Amino acid sequence: MRKAFLLAVALISGAAAAADTADTLYWNGPIYTADDSNPKVEAVAVAKGKVLFAGARADAEKLKGPQTRIVDLKGAAMYPGFTDAHAHLREVGERELTLNLEGKPSLAAAMQAVKERNAAEPGTGLLWGRGWIETHWPEARFPTRQDIDAVVSDRPVILERADGHAVVANSKALALAGITRKTPVPEGGFINKDAKGEPNGMIVDNALPLIEKLIPAPDDAYRAKAFKAAFDYETSHGWTGVHYMSVPWADVVMLEGFAKKGEAPLRVYNAVEPEYYPNLKRDGAHIASDGRIITRAVKFYMDGALGSRGAALLAKYNDADTEGLVRMKKEDVLPIWEDALKRGIQITTHAIGDKGNRLVLDWYEEAFNAVPEKDRLTQPPRWRVEHAQIVSAQDIPRFAKLGVIPSMQPSHAIGDLDFAGKRLGTERLKEGYAWADLIKAGSIVPGGSDAPVEKGDPRIEFYAAVARKALDGHSGPDWHPEEAVDRNTALKMFTVWPAYASFREKELGAIKPGMRADFSVFSKDLMTVPEPEILQAQALLTVLDGKEAFHAPNW
Ligand SMILES: [Zn+2]
Repeated sequence: MRKAFLLAVALISGAAAAADTADTLYWNGPIYTADDSNPKVEAVAVAKGKVLFAGARADAEKLKGPQTRIVDLKGAAMYPGFTDAHAHLREVGERELTLNLEGKPSLAAAMQAVKERNAAEPGTGLLWGRGWIETHWPEARFPTRQDIDAVVSDRPVILERADGHAVVANSKALALAGITRKTPVPEGGFINKDAKGEPNGMIVDNALPLIEKLIPAPDDAYRAKAFKAAFDYETSHGWTGVHYMSVPWADVVMLEGFAKKGEAPLRVYNAVEPEYYPNLKRDGAHIASDGRIITRAVKFYMDGALGSRGAALLAKYNDADTEGLVRMKKEDVLPIWEDALKRGIQITTHAIGDKGNRLVLDWYEEAFNAVPEKDRLTQPPRWRVEHAQIVSAQDIPRFAKLGVIPSMQPSHAIGDLDFAGKRLGTERLKEGYAWADLIKAGSIVPGGSDAPVEKGDPRIEFYAAVARKALDGHSGPDWHPEEAVDRNTALKMFTVWPAYASFREKELGAIKPGMRADFSVFSKDLMTVPEPEILQAQALLTVLDGKEAFHAPNW
């Protein structure tokens, strides 16, 4: 009976005749499948890179042949491969290579790090840092050019905010870039000024190219080094896949090159910058090396970020005389979007503020209305909104109704909630980071980290989703604990739902016969341990297509 069943599975999955012998068997730990019909099993068998069997250990034993390798989990917990549904992959690697200001506890500490870097690597060239975030600094303000001038004044310094939506530059950099009080401010951007009307060093959103022209374009060798660092970072933290956002075409080419040489230990789903739409239009979806690198999405930006007040709001900010920034025009994007529907190209758009989100839904709806289902290559088109951070209550059900996927980052909530109230006021916080409301309304919510904006750690994302508390366990009066999700839902946010959001739910996201053998193994059972212990879990094993991409040296 069992044998007949397995044979049927083998036939369905197209496996070879000898598929009832496992290449590898995993057992002796809790194994969660994210498959609702068979959620927890004792053992998993893998053959030829695919799951052959998931069920009772006694049945798995029968699949053991003379060559079969046994992975004894020794109590560690196994899950389908965790996927980060929103990250900036190369920048994650660059964070490891440039001056990393992530986690600096104060403005003074950040400036000290700049001073030390300048001493360690003296010169006249650009000093480039990234990762600062002022929200928890005791100084409680943005850095200025004078702050940097006080530690480094004789060479240009550009320090990028963690969210990538703002930089602060010193006076030397502003001078080299030719930015003065008279520089026209591009639409959708800010050049922040001091009380005297002089640029204070902060440059935001669409004004960034004015200063970023000083940053030398990374050459191929540097980019390759950054990708290798990123692969190491991601797999050693337990990710098997990443949805890489805002990708330049040269990175698509480089990643495909890695995959062809068997040097991409990570699954990457690319959403390219809008200027590369013609490349996708010309070739259709790019699928390299048996699905290791897939490129079929284009990412647009509707607005900016909440911290730098670039997020587009329906009403003014609570703490400034602005409604934020709308960064694109409907007449520019609608023709592209309608064409994309006909070609099955996925569109995804960054939207943070309630106005930004409403505009995306309105414009998507217009495109859907313009292209009837029979004229679309893919139905439903599975278009996405990246972040969907502040969504007006009346727009929440529209996501499910339109089939638009809110792709959200749990750690943004716990990173932002200490200051979001200042920007938004208490009332609007009800509409912030509303994962549970969106899910209740019928949406799926793929979860991501937005690394290097946030750390890019599955433990932090999983914890943030289920606890909705800061890492130290604190939370504020307006943090809306009812928006936390249960652990089964959190598991889906990092497994089945990213798979669906990248059109791969038939082969990825669950541990089920016939699906690809992608697994993440952690030292703790994320489904049952007390919340703070989730953060103490260790990534032990990361497996793609049945092969180990990472194996913790101490395990
Ligand atoms: Zn992002």
